[in-house]
Amino acid sequence: MTPYDAASPQGQAPLIDGFGRTVTYLRLSVTDRCDLRCVYCMAEHMTFLPKAEVLTLEELDRIATAFVGLGVRKLRLTGGEPLVRKGMMELVEALSRHLKTGALSELTLTTNGTRLTEFAGRLAAAGVKRINVSLDTLKPDLFRKLTRGGDVAKVIAGIEAAQAAGLSVKINTVALKDDNAGEIPDLIRWAHARGADLTLIETMPLGEVEADRTDQFLSLKDVRQSLESFWTLEELPLNTGGPARYVRIAETGGRLGLITPLSHNFCEACNRVRLTCTGTLHTCLGQEDASDLRAVLRAGATDEQLADAIRLAVDAKPKGHDFEIARAKPAVARHMSTTGG
Ligand code: SAM
Ligand code: SF4
Repeated sequence: MTPYDAASPQGQAPLIDGFGRTVTYLRLSVTDRCDLRCVYCMAEHMTFLPKAEVLTLEELDRIATAFVGLGVRKLRLTGGEPLVRKGMMELVEALSRHLKTGALSELTLTTNGTRLTEFAGRLAAAGVKRINVSLDTLKPDLFRKLTRGGDVAKVIAGIEAAQAAGLSVKINTVALKDDNAGEIPDLIRWAHARGADLTLIETMPLGEVEADRTDQFLSLKDVRQSLESFWTLEELPLNTGGPARYVRIAETGGRLGLITPLSHNFCEACNRVRLTCTGTLHTCLGQEDASDLRAVLRAGATDEQLADAIRLAVDAKPKGHDFEIARAKPAVARHMSTTGG
């Protein structure tokens, strides 16, 4: 391969880390705020960041654009809840210019769905094709308990609005031993009947919350075994460079993803990095490594200096994560709402 072949669409060399992995996927958290307080994600009384610490929409755009220039092909906006950020649609619409040039192959977001009835149409119009919606239960009372006050009807209406706008929806469900373990087959049936894939996620030890995670942890190996007692699960050779494995359920005809960060080593193929809403770049979800891109930006960096800072951070991407559910302390002190899912 000549250096020219290896160049990103913008003509710069791609982002390759110290272990030879090419980074092509950025998850960008646009806010730490949220209209829900999921028990495994946030503390009941969260202290949110002062506005001055959070990247402005222009800064978010500039950093995302720098990554696109370095060969990032997929951009996922997350949070906190991305759709509660003021000006979010303007950011999505601005970033969609990279879809039009072909530099970006996918612009997507992960949302709790509460505001989709309002925004689904604009997201679709901006070129968003697929979204992930988090939903752990269809039961109104349990949803209210898990989210500390949320209304599941809003989320369901949001999912319907997204599909009506032409967006493909994937449901993300965190598997919780005491709360939704028994409902998982119903959730899968419900999603598949609507033409939505569903991905189950094991709880991850991120950030201090009140509940004891050892109590909530449900192994997806056990869930899978239980599903296999009444369904036929066919392995799918789908590799997204992430921790998900996929199967097709013969009886429902739909796809099920299983994200098991604690029981599987998926790090060798990892192609992603995460940027918090304060501009901190984490190149590994399970390590404390961090680079402050906000400081670089606010010091007046040129595009070239920003690209250099990104390269330096990616070069040091750790080999693998370091989760251990049995530990008393979380492996990583930051909450998922800060890092983005
Ligand atoms: N607010 C949006 C949402 O809920 O989809 C986007 C951000 S949220 C932090 C992204 C995903 O992370 C959600 O699917 C959520 O269920 C998941 N999540 C949050 N805390 C988690 C934890 N401790 N372990 C596993 N998944 C977690
Ligand atoms: Fe909010 Fe998403 Fe965290 Fe739930 S998981 S509290 S919806 S950021």
